[in-house]
Amino acid sequence: MSSAHALCPRCHYDQRGTIETWNDSCPLRGRCCECGLEYEWGDVLNPFRGRLPGLVEHARGVPQLVRWTFTTFGWIILPHRFWKRVELHHTISLRTILLGPLLVMAVFHFAAWVLAVIAFLLTPPNTGGPPASLDTIDDWWLDAALLMAEPFARGATWYSPSGRSIYVDWTVLLFLDRLLALVTCVLAWPLLFMVLPITRRAGKLRWSHIWRAGLYPFWWLVVLHISDRLIAVGNSLIMIVYSLTGDTRAYQVAEAVNPTVVFLANTLWFIGPAWILAWWYVALRRGFRLERAGLLWAVLGVAVLAASAIIFLGGWYLRVVLDPYWTPV
Ligand SMILES: [Zn+2]
Repeated sequence: MSSAHALCPRCHYDQRGTIETWNDSCPLRGRCCECGLEYEWGDVLNPFRGRLPGLVEHARGVPQLVRWTFTTFGWIILPHRFWKRVELHHTISLRTILLGPLLVMAVFHFAAWVLAVIAFLLTPPNTGGPPASLDTIDDWWLDAALLMAEPFARGATWYSPSGRSIYVDWTVLLFLDRLLALVTCVLAWPLLFMVLPITRRAGKLRWSHIWRAGLYPFWWLVVLHISDRLIAVGNSLIMIVYSLTGDTRAYQVAEAVNPTVVFLANTLWFIGPAWILAWWYVALRRGFRLERAGLLWAVLGVAVLAASAIIFLGGWYLRVVLDPYWTPV
């Protein structure tokens, strides 16, 4: 018996040598003599077992890509759920890991932008003072419309009392420190594997496995962007309701729920790094089935946290320098 597909799911060592030794029976389970991984022969020999329905990497066509992005997101929220399903023998498609959430994010972004432009066009002049702002545009609504298409733009529908200026809050400065720290948390893990090749070789891991674990944390940035756009949608809806009905109760409702929304949005920033730590722990232990996963995780985790803390302080300093409206609280 021989097969073209007889590679170890973890290290890709050719398992045909073992198959040659089978004389009268086929065992159900085997063990890679190169990396020590125990596997089911069915996972190694049957190419159809490489596809996992619901995993975004295996989606075919755009509708399925969008649907399975949500399915996979439901798995990754609790890392254990993801790594229990997604095993080493499942085919890896790194491109799709980013493609799915980017597509969903683009749709959200576009919808929020359309709503912001509608709100801007409907809003009558002299609706009050503008919020603290970074970009001031005079007059031309197309300029404003383009600015509102930027990520993290908000408060774009305000007119100044003269009725000639509108102001765009570029809210990213409010959380530049947290954003940079989270990006560091996301990138530091795969980068550490790159600069410390021994960590990868000790586990006989392939790069595609490292990047599969390394790319899913990027979804947190998408989640944060979508949550930011949802707040922008809330702003626009309030402006639209006020413009159409003159009813100021929408503002009162907004003021009432604002502390809760801010609290939830801030919480996401802290859940992100904690989730990434948990994600990699489960990935190393359950996903890659490394023998000394706990130790490796602890060493890398401390390095990642130290790097994130330094970047956080740097981001905080940048925020102070860049934001003319910054005042110590
Ligand atoms: Zn192996």
